[in-house]
Amino acid sequence: MNLMTPDLKKKLTERFGSRVQFNAPMARHTSFRVGGPAEALVTPKDRVELVDLLTVIRAAGVPWMVLGGGTNLLVKDRGIRGVVISPGRGFDQIQICHKGPDKIVVEAGSAVRLSALCRYAIDNNYTGLHFAAGIPGSVGGAILMNAGTRQGAVESVLEGIDVLEPPDQVRTLDRDQLFIRYRGLSWQPAGDDAEPICVVLSGRFALAPAAGSDPAAEFEAMLNSRWKTQPKGFSAGCVFKNPSADMPAGRLIDQAGLKGMAVGGARISAVHANYIINENDASAADILELIGRVQKCVADRFRVCLEPEIRIVGE
Ligand SMILES: Cc1cc2nc3c(=O)[nH]c(=O)nc-3n(C[C@H](O)[C@H](O)[C@H](O)COP(=O)(O)OP(=O)(O)OC[C@H]3O[C@@H](n4cnc5c(N)ncnc54)[C@H](O)[C@@H]3O)c2cc1C
Repeated sequence: MNLMTPDLKKKLTERFGSRVQFNAPMARHTSFRVGGPAEALVTPKDRVELVDLLTVIRAAGVPWMVLGGGTNLLVKDRGIRGVVISPGRGFDQIQICHKGPDKIVVEAGSAVRLSALCRYAIDNNYTGLHFAAGIPGSVGGAILMNAGTRQGAVESVLEGIDVLEPPDQVRTLDRDQLFIRYRGLSWQPAGDDAEPICVVLSGRFALAPAAGSDPAAEFEAMLNSRWKTQPKGFSAGCVFKNPSADMPAGRLIDQAGLKGMAVGGARISAVHANYIINENDASAADILELIGRVQKCVADRFRVCLEPEIRIVGE
């Protein structure tokens, strides 16, 4: 059933003009390059528009979700019912909110690219974000995913976040009010973070002045080592969470002999077994089938249940 009634379509069009797109193919908005259409994709330009949007869609009783850079999402082939919200230009600011001799707190809007935040830190000679070198996507997505590498994660620098509780309440949350875990973060103990009830507006990151170290060189070194191990092609990064620090999912998949296995246009990378590459017009169904086969083989062989790190959404 289409949830976009003519009345809702009219309201969204009147308010958002060219910033609302109906039947928006999500394959164009995700790094996997798969996924059916979102019934509506709206890009509110600032907080005022975001509040307006949430008021309208909540009154219509329509489900919604937030899209960052789409680099950790697998959207199913029939698409997303309801509204996908993509924070726009007004969420793309970086500013300093505290500057001391040992600590600089930088606030970045949710739509800022993580790479742009890293570039800002390098240009200003601040350290702390080297772990994020080469992680694609937005600051909002990085916060929600507690994105990171073996060198650290968002949690190692996050001081707090601002969230919008629908329809219009902005809450400033300090780090000790957040529930941070491996590749996930929420602001409620039992929060189902696959469907956030809030929108992350911004995050505050505690960085340090580079005393003796060279942030640009640290960043460069991280990038270089990444490019050696990271597969090329359309993907969403690591598909599965590591069951533990000394048991990387990629190693289990490799040891199960699954590197190179393909379903339709999707293949397990020969370079890094925790990556699935959309190498030939894969469908989301191909990728899901491959995920299922990997989980079964690894469970049969090692009695380990691999849990997806990527967020699977839609129908
Ligand atoms: C080539 C490649 C390499 C990668 N390497 C890494 C890596 O080294 N480490 C790592 O951790 N990840 C990695 N990833 C995965 C991905 O880049 C990260 O998880 C990234 O932080 C996701 O950000 P995003 O903006 O793309 O989020 P999206 O994919 O758009 O969304 C991810 C989740 O966050 C939610 N969300 C996004 N923005 C908001 C917001 N403002 N408010 C509320 N909810 C929001 C979405 O609803 C969704 O549930 C990689 C991906 C690729 C393609």
